[in-house]
Formats: sequence, structure tokens, C-alpha cells
Amino acid sequence: FLLGAILPVIDEIVAYMKECDAVLRIEPAGSARRRKETVGDLDILVLSTRPEEVVERFVSMPRVSRVISQGTTRSTVIIGANLQVDLRVIPPESYGSALQYFTGSKAHNIKLRTIAVKKGYKLNEYGLFDRETGERIAGETEESVYKALGLEWIEPELREDRGEIEAAMEGRLPRLVREEEIRGDLHIHTKWSDGTGTIEEMAQKAMSLGLEYIAICDHSKSMGIARGLDEARLRKQMAEIDKLNERLEGFRVLKGIEVDIKADGSLDLPDSVLKDLDFVVASIHSGFKADERQMTERMIRAIHNDYVSTIGHPTGRIILRRRPYALNLDKVFEAAAEQGVMMEINAFPNRLDLNDVNAKAAKEHGIMMSIGTDAHAPNHMEFLNLGVAVARRGWLEPGDVINTLPVDELLRKLER
Ligand SMILES: [Zn+2]
Ligand SMILES: [Zn+2]
Repeated sequence: FLLGAILPVIDEIVAYMKECDAVLRIEPAGSARRRKETVGDLDILVLSTRPEEVVERFVSMPRVSRVISQGTTRSTVIIGANLQVDLRVIPPESYGSALQYFTGSKAHNIKLRTIAVKKGYKLNEYGLFDRETGERIAGETEESVYKALGLEWIEPELREDRGEIEAAMEGRLPRLVREEEIRGDLHIHTKWSDGTGTIEEMAQKAMSLGLEYIAICDHSKSMGIARGLDEARLRKQMAEIDKLNERLEGFRVLKGIEVDIKADGSLDLPDSVLKDLDFVVASIHSGFKADERQMTERMIRAIHNDYVSTIGHPTGRIILRRRPYALNLDKVFEAAAEQGVMMEINAFPNRLDLNDVNAKAAKEHGIMMSIGTDAHAPNHMEFLNLGVAVARRGWLEPGDVINTLPVDELLRKLER
């Protein structure tokens, strides 16, 4: 399942379970808590001293299609057609260690257990214990477990054994960017190309989500099926945005485009119009079969255009459907860093492109990221949290994500 499909289910389960007063705390564990891009089964942990009531409530959830097992502290059900959800009810003294244990990842936990053994401890889902005396050292909270092992608490999104344990040991964990720090959505389509909303409808939705700005980035003309814009229609759209901005208070619509990168790396619209835009996303939408050298050169040429702000969905992969195109990302990142061009984290549920690993690599090259939902309808803007999930899994801090800037600072930064 895509993370984007799982998060609403989690919200539903949590809301329903919380109405039972035997539920003192409830959290997803496993890969869902780590915000992995795809999730297999869903693990739910509940803190309670009255487990039977919790299990009873769990199996009676409205969308349960089948109860596979029902014990005194555990249960497994199927929700809808085939989502398996496992519930574990945990007593207070073990809640932190259970949450830690069931959150994983496996590689992260193996390393933690090794550290525990070296310190003369034993770590499992029930707690952290002294190996000799069996005395309980920690377990009530995750923080207590990590602390007893000499580590700072580690954000779940980082728990992949990608250096986070070493960083926690040395007190140099990143301060991950947060959802509420994102002030705008930097990739929005409208009716002008293949979206379903008007510019104003998209702006209204963004305001209702508490955002301060959006960038309208419709397709350019070579995307014929998507009614891509030529220069004349783009100029018309820009005029409409100017008019709309006069009416909006405390909100700004940025003039942008998702300009096609053609096979030779040139752009689908002339510099004479790109230079008048606030935000230029340049993307590849065709010719995916070219070899790595061609693809890399194509993208690097686009990066060298003076008006490109960011590269849209840089690898072109569609989760569970299309592999990334052949690209030497290292060379692309080098060129982007040198030119001051950003990479997008496209937050559309089946894209998440750059992914976590590549976002981390881009950051290490000194590249800033822009997050865009690629919304083709107003409610798609709710996918912003998926982009933030990728950013967090990629170790990004607020300063690595341009969407954390207020609009005036953003525009200043974009003038390069
Ligand atoms: Zn695109
Ligand atoms: Zn797009």
C-alpha cells in the first residue's frame, strides 16, 4: 500500500479507538510510523491497563471485514479488501520499549541490541534489563530506552540504520523539518492545463490548509494531451494571477510553469517568458528510454538554463509501476549545486520523487529542495504531508526546504 493510502486509515482507526476510555495512548508502529513510502501490514500499539476492552473495541471497528485472531492483548483483523492490521495492547511499564521494538527498522533494532549487549543489558519489547540481575533499567518511554543506551531519542523516520545511531551517539542528529513549517505548495496545476480547479479554487483550498502561497505550474505546450500552455496563453494566465493577487489578502499566488525539458535538454518555452515568472519547474515527461549518458546530459542542460528554479520529479519513477529513468544523479546533483538549482520532492502519493535516499544525497551536495504536491485537484494539496515525510526520511532540516520561507524571502532567494 502507498503511504498516502495508509495515513487516512490510521487517522480513522485512531479516532475510533480513542473513543474507548480504556485507550490511554494509541500509535501506529512499524513502517507506517517510519513513514516509509509503501507499507505492508499496519501495526497499532495501545497503552492500556484494560486490554480486553481495547481488543473488543478493535474488532468492532466499522470497516473490519474479517477477524483473523482475537486474544486478550492482541488481535489481527482485515480492513477493507486486504489490509491486515495488528493490534497489541501494552502495559505502561513496557510501552516505550514495545513502541521502539515494533517501530523498527530491523537493521536499526539489531544495532541497538548490540549496543545494549555491550553495556551488559538485554533489550526486547518488554524493556531494557540488566543482564545479570534482571533488573528493569528502562521501558516506560522510548526516550528512557535510548537514553539508557547513551543515545538521544531518534525520530522514527530516521530509524533505517543510515547513520542515525552514530549521529545520536555524538549528539548531531538533524532537527527535522516539520509539517507546520511548510508555508506553501510549489507545484500546482489548474484548469488551464490538465487540472480540475481554477486558480482561485486552488488558492482557496491552500488558504484553508493554512498555507501562505502556492505556485501555479501548469504544463507547457509540448504536453499536448495535457493542454499545455504556449507563451500567449501563459501570458494570459499571468495577467489573471496578477488580478487575483490584488484581491487576496495575506496570500500570494506565484506565477510559474512546469516547463517540459525536451529531448535535447532545451526547454519548451523561451527565456523571454520564463524570466517573467516567479517559479520555474523543469520536468522530463517523455523519451524515458534514452540511455544514462543522454538522459544525464539532457537534464544538466536544463539545469544550466538561467531561469529554472527546480527540477520536477527528478527521477520519473512511479511507485510500483515505473522505474526511474537512467540518470547519473551524482552528476546531476553536482551541476545543480553549482548552478544553484533545486531538486523537487514531488509529494504526489505514487511519485515521492526525489525519494528519501536521493533527498539525503542531494542535501549532502548542498542542494536545497522544493516540495510540491503536483496537485491536479484542490484536495491533492493535502498530500503535502507526504512530501514532508520524504524530507524527514531524507534528514532534511528547515533550512534545506525552500517552502519554509515566507513568500518575500522565497522570492529573494529565487532571484539568482
Ligand atoms: Zn510533471
Ligand atoms: Zn506537474
